Amino acid sequence: MKRGAAKTALRLAAYAALICALLFSLALSHRQSEANRSLRARVDALSELLAGRQAEIVELKERLAANGGGPSEALSPAETAPDGGEDGVWEPAPPKLWTEYRAYQDLYPSLSVRRPEMWFSRNKTVYLTFDDGPTVHTARVLDTLKEKGVKATFFIVGTSVRRLGEEGEALLRRMADEGHTIGVHCDVHDYKRVYASVEAFLEDFNAAFTLIRDITGVRSDIFRFPGGSVNAYNVKIRAALIGEMTRRGFTHYDWNASSNDTSGRATEDSAWSNAVSRAGNANRVILLMHDTKAVSVRALSRIIDTYEEKGYGFARLTNADKPIVL
Ligand SMILES: [Zn+2]
Repeated sequence: MKRGAAKTALRLAAYAALICALLFSLALSHRQSEANRSLRARVDALSELLAGRQAEIVELKERLAANGGGPSEALSPAETAPDGGEDGVWEPAPPKLWTEYRAYQDLYPSLSVRRPEMWFSRNKTVYLTFDDGPTVHTARVLDTLKEKGVKATFFIVGTSVRRLGEEGEALLRRMADEGHTIGVHCDVHDYKRVYASVEAFLEDFNAAFTLIRDITGVRSDIFRFPGGSVNAYNVKIRAALIGEMTRRGFTHYDWNASSNDTSGRATEDSAWSNAVSRAGNANRVILLMHDTKAVSVRALSRIIDTYEEKGYGFARLTNADKPIVL
């Protein structure tokens, strides 16, 4: 009997301990959710305050620009629109992305550039862009641009530079010397390889970025995705990739007009008519061409003339220019 009573007492004590532990954990979780509620309220209040202050900054910068005070001090003069900005407006660039930590963020620690705080939107402007070069046609493109007094943008492929050897390097230096923008396209133009993973993209991008920097001293801060930002090869990694490149300060530019010079049936005439008509009456035209294709190169002079007749001006892209994305 005595052993039975002791057993029951022990069992009761065990139940009591269990109930105590349950009550304690309930009280703890209640306290935690109270604390979380108050933290959330503080985060909300501070976010609201921050948003208000940001709107104030934007307004002040607009007033400054309107008074001829120029762009924000955060932009170095070299990176602002090269020939004035009286016909443009400054718009805030998207906020910095706070992404979840991923191991690829530690790769290539020096692969980052300064992103502008504001974007400039220029009226009635054509941005001529050439992808995939340099090639044997590039010198002619540069000659035509010089003759017309027009600045353009080249999105460079690393293998194209290496294929031409010293001539490729000289062409890159000429682009920089003559005031054109050098952006990154890729190192090896192979969609499957470039878009195999975020790590693969970064490896390829870093190779092209480093090549351009070593030859010209230019740290390219803009780029164009091979195939454009929306393509069938980057579907699975697109969001992470854009997040990572934005985190590193790079800005990408797609296009809203193309000379369609990669089509098998392209001619000098078709390149010209596509180039000047595809954007309709868009205020800003980012025109895609390839200096790998002779047709666009031969049509370039006429393309420039036609846009001038329509009242457009020309500018190179800088990372302060508001992007056009597909
Ligand atoms: Zn390309």
